[in-house]
Amino acid sequence: MTTNMTALITGANKGIGFATARQLGGRGFTVLVGARDPERGREAERALRDAGTDAHAVTLDVTDEESVASAAKWIDDRYGQLDVLVNNAGIALGDGTGQPSETRLATLRTVYETNVFGVVAVTNALLPLLLAAPGARIVNVSSEVGSIGTMTDPTNPLFPFASVPYPSSKTALNMVTAMYAKELRDTVIKVNAANPGYCATDLNHHGGFRTPDQGAEVSVHLATLPGDGPSGLLWGYLTDGSY
Ligand code: NDP
Repeated sequence: MTTNMTALITGANKGIGFATARQLGGRGFTVLVGARDPERGREAERALRDAGTDAHAVTLDVTDEESVASAAKWIDDRYGQLDVLVNNAGIALGDGTGQPSETRLATLRTVYETNVFGVVAVTNALLPLLLAAPGARIVNVSSEVGSIGTMTDPTNPLFPFASVPYPSSKTALNMVTAMYAKELRDTVIKVNAANPGYCATDLNHHGGFRTPDQGAEVSVHLATLPGDGPSGLLWGYLTDGSY
């Protein structure tokens, strides 16, 4: 099955991003495998091609302006438009016991460079190509720990988790998502934030209770929303088991 549609997933060489690439490939998308390490990107491309997907590795470090610009140029030269952008690349770092009072600014900056600034850089570089597509979707991979309501509710199981860098980066990402949705509200583009749920990946030393494929289903749902679907939402799996 082919759709003539093209999807770029950042951080697609492993984890939820790789599973997202595989699932979108299974739906007929041409998949652009964003990876900051070229060899890891090529490995993922090979695995996806072996599974029958039209996959192409694209070297893309979301924290590196030149890398972002050259990836955008490569996509423009080759396709002239982009149907789906999944801003999936993310990192989680902490200091000491992880409490706010032990947070080093250098750690905070590093996490924001990838999880927040990287999303803005990639989205802005690719926006002309997304606007050139007939109905593009932007998915920003966020987290339930970015919800202020969740993290301040003593009855929520996530309440004891009190680190600053990762949760606050996802809170910022949620607002970034809402602001892009607002700017683009009169276009056919939909911009939403995905909450994959706690999935077993390298990010959490495989401590998650969901699979990367289950997490990827959330991104794929938002990447394939119909024309009358929502924009500006944070949607996905919550720790109480609901969506
Ligand atoms: P992984 O650590 O398995 O994968 C992260 C991916 O991001 C890797 O491909 C990694 O590349 C890439 N990456 C990191 N930094 C950069 C960068 N500067 N430029 C480009 N790519 C980069 O984690 P997950 O699959 O779990 O995470 C995917 C997304 O899901 C993240 O945004 C994360 O915050 C989010 N998420 C994850 C949850 C979970 O429970 N796992 C829960 C909620 C949200 P490399 O291999 O080179 O390091």
